Amino acid sequence: MLRFAATRAAPVLATGAVGAWAAVTTQNDDWDEYFPPAPASTDRERIVILGSGWAGLNAMKKCGGEGKEVVVVSPRPHFLYTPLLAGSAVGTVTLRSVCEPLRAVIEDSWTADANFLRADAKAIDTKNKTVRLATGDGDANLELPYDKLVIAVGAQPNTFGIPGVQEHGLFLKEAEDSAKLHARLLWNLERAAAALACGESNEVVDALLTVVVVGGPTGVELCAELADFKKDDIARRYGAKVAERFRIVLAEAMPPILGPFDPQLADVARTHLETCGVDVRAACAVTSITADSVTYQPSLPRSATAAERAAAAAQAKTESVGALVWVAGIGARPIVKKLAQQLGQGKNARGLKVDDKLQVLGADGVFAIGDCALSGNAPTAQVAAQQGKYVGRTIRDATEEPFVYRHAGSLCCLGFGNAIAQLQPTHRYWRELHGAAGSNVVGEDQRAVSGVPAFALWRSMYFTQLLSSSTRYAVSADWIRTSLSGRDVNEPVLKRTQTPPE
Ligand code: FAD
Ligand code: MG
Repeated sequence: MLRFAATRAAPVLATGAVGAWAAVTTQNDDWDEYFPPAPASTDRERIVILGSGWAGLNAMKKCGGEGKEVVVVSPRPHFLYTPLLAGSAVGTVTLRSVCEPLRAVIEDSWTADANFLRADAKAIDTKNKTVRLATGDGDANLELPYDKLVIAVGAQPNTFGIPGVQEHGLFLKEAEDSAKLHARLLWNLERAAAALACGESNEVVDALLTVVVVGGPTGVELCAELADFKKDDIARRYGAKVAERFRIVLAEAMPPILGPFDPQLADVARTHLETCGVDVRAACAVTSITADSVTYQPSLPRSATAAERAAAAAQAKTESVGALVWVAGIGARPIVKKLAQQLGQGKNARGLKVDDKLQVLGADGVFAIGDCALSGNAPTAQVAAQQGKYVGRTIRDATEEPFVYRHAGSLCCLGFGNAIAQLQPTHRYWRELHGAAGSNVVGEDQRAVSGVPAFALWRSMYFTQLLSSSTRYAVSADWIRTSLSGRDVNEPVLKRTQTPPE
């Protein structure tokens, strides 16, 4: 009897009981009471940072510590030193020198103990605290749980819907944009040199016009770099005839260039560019571009009447162009728009609304920093870095103080040996030093510096902020090479011209 119970009845009863329990729990959707989903961390709080730029990297360096597991997610495995990107597009520095591999940053940093995942964040579920990731060409759908999430995905170029810009414009936002622009400039020069040598001159003139839209700090720095390239390198490497025909246009829709700077300093920049041969066209709006042409017309205020619009359209002019660089503004990335809509922050948002602690409104444990946050600060590296440090420390130390931005000043390089700086001396000694040096007072107790002293400041500030000794070494070597033997005219991807067989 006992033997029968042990060998037959008990297994049947046990199987029946497990089956009944499974059926009931499945019906009631209660499986998670028996097998709860693995928590994001058992003994450690998992902090997920989206983005490897100025904001994300600074947050990563600060938020680690005991009981914290830091994961950085970004499709870009390097930190890009954006202030030197314009220089890299004309070979003043090599592009690789301004890209710091993230894995090296993590390895070298004694504060950051983080994992890096090369992936794109596609969607954020703020209720279940997970991020959906895609690696490669979107071939993997991974789910990453978080306890705290830091969104630092930056922004993307904004074309304002102007026809042709997305398809034919060149940008200056990522490393690949700089490589593309550098390759296009060198290609145009080679094309022009060959055509000119064979007596064709129209093609030369067309290919050698580079138009930069618009005259913010990035546009002005790029034009200044192009002007230096023309003066120092084009004549000696491609010949005087090519150099003579190399033209740079800076098109700005607003009447002054460099809107964020004091008008005195903006004037210094404009005069310098014009002296270097840059055609600065203020109040000039680009209305469309094609693969080899650009159309402009006088810009209009939003309040313009139909008659004023018709008059401006009648003055539209189309010009052939070799390269059009669009640095006219930034817009929100798709993931940011999607989350803003999910959280009821509106359709087509420009960024994520945050409170004074940079926490995203309506999302528990989620922060937004840098260019993707609507924090009331300008989209600059200076702001992004300070916000990154602040959020990193807030998470690490569980503090509650609000974020306070400290503006050190604004700088814009005008090529070798010249720059403008609008500085905010916070300490009495700095103010006295400026007084002794005779710098002008502009704006709200700010000091204006230009020329060689501003250039020295620009170089030393950006040099000291470079992340590692290896990038400092690489950038110094580039600067020395450029001074001694000219800019790098190697194409970013080395290849020979391949013509299709006839
Ligand atoms: P970014 O630095 O753009 O970083 C965003 C990161 O998010 C990148 O790593 C990106 O790959 C990643 N990412 C994007 N999408 C996703 C996703 N779906 N999932 C995960 N990760 C994602 N500011 C200054 O203060 N001084 C200057 O001199 C200056 N010069 C500049 C020159 C140029 C040419 C440019 C383009 C900008 C310059 N800026 C400067 C502005 C400054 O670079 C930006 O304000 C700054 O980069 C913003 O930092 P961020 O971390 O928000 O974004
Ligand atoms: Mg970042």
